[in-house]
Amino acid sequence: MERTLVLIKPDAVQRGLVGEVTRRLEAKGLKLVGMKMMHLNEAIILEHYAHLADKPFFAGVKKFMQSTPVIAQCWEGVEVVDAVRIIVGITKARAADAGSVRGDLAMSLQCNVVHASDSSETAKREVGRFFKEDEL
Ligand code: ADP
Repeated sequence: MERTLVLIKPDAVQRGLVGEVTRRLEAKGLKLVGMKMMHLNEAIILEHYAHLADKPFFAGVKKFMQSTPVIAQCWEGVEVVDAVRIIVGITKARAADAGSVRGDLAMSLQCNVVHASDSSETAKREVGRFFKEDEL
């Protein structure tokens, strides 16, 4: 069975959308196997968003992701990485499909409610970054 990482981002935490995002993933039939609230320190942000480190908007993303704690979740299911990406929608929330989390709940490119792993390989690394095996 595959696993994936979801981070419910500070905008969603502040707007009280933790339950709504979690409800959608549970209703789909995915299994929540780990969850914790955590403040993201410098090191974990640099590692998690290493692919964005040279982008002009990186400082903004870092500040946003540290503005409140996030909710880290590990979800399990058949082809769960792709299933969650479909539920989440594309990065630019205002252009995301209606019915997706970002399409229904956000307008922003930066403040787009959730992070979800984008491939099986990335998911393995990202789950390991946020959870110890005995927390799952
Ligand atoms: P995704 O989260 O959809 O996998 P990326 O990995 O490309 O997208 O980007 C990570 C996060 O960085 C996005 O979810 C968003 O919060 C932020 N981001 C991406 N591109 C921009 C941008 N052009 N301006 C501001 N923030 C951005």
